[in-house]
Amino acid sequence: MRNVFLICLGATLLLGAEHEQAGAKRGPRDILWRLRRGNIAYVAGRQSVAQVTPARRTSLVAAQRPHAVILTCADSRVPPEYIFNEGLGALFVVRVAGGVADPVTVGSVEYGVEHLHAPLIVVMGHTRCGAVKAAIETPAPTGAPTGPGANIESILSLIRPGIPKGPSQSDPWTSAVYGGVAQTMADLFRISQIVPEMSKKEEIGVIGAVYDIETGKVTFSEMLTKDKVEHASETARLLEWKPALQLASARGH
Ligand SMILES: [Zn+2]
Repeated sequence: MRNVFLICLGATLLLGAEHEQAGAKRGPRDILWRLRRGNIAYVAGRQSVAQVTPARRTSLVAAQRPHAVILTCADSRVPPEYIFNEGLGALFVVRVAGGVADPVTVGSVEYGVEHLHAPLIVVMGHTRCGAVKAAIETPAPTGAPTGPGANIESILSLIRPGIPKGPSQSDPWTSAVYGGVAQTMADLFRISQIVPEMSKKEEIGVIGAVYDIETGKVTFSEMLTKDKVEHASETARLLEWKPALQLASARGH
């Protein structure tokens, strides 16, 4: 019995050490690796609750030091902490229907990177997004929106510019989701002064992502390069997607 206890204790310490080791590296690519690994665990149903304990809760009372800012949709099927197998204090999550970037959400993202020093920003859309579908199906009003639908229209108006025009490789809804992430990214770089400056200095990494609500998998774009960031305002394709590489990487773990 004592041996079993010692083995269990050893395994617990090892797991704890692995977690601390992963958390110790704070470069954008280290954090991306951690999120990818967490998503693989989530897809496989191997989530951990090790970082959602009373001890963890009390350890965070004095301060938080999240390692990623996630700007994503308010959809109830898209909880970032579950999707990336993270616990308390790990992710600074900004959620709004459609995952759009406006001064309020951009200000929250800026707070996460400038004041809390999170080294990575993830702009994440998701498949079958109702806000994106509404933006596709609802014609833009001719004048300033009024009446009971005005507030929702303020969200849709931010999504519509990202909807691809003409034929697309995948179904229109999914294409619009990817287009929406690109649009949010472009808006983030247009509205913010802090995010482009920190990106140019390579103090933070910025990446796009799409979460598949059926498989649980997150497909990431390429991390934005310094060159891309410097030309963000005139670059039509700010994000490069390589789903095939993402799938290969996921299988490799
Ligand atoms: Zn959504």
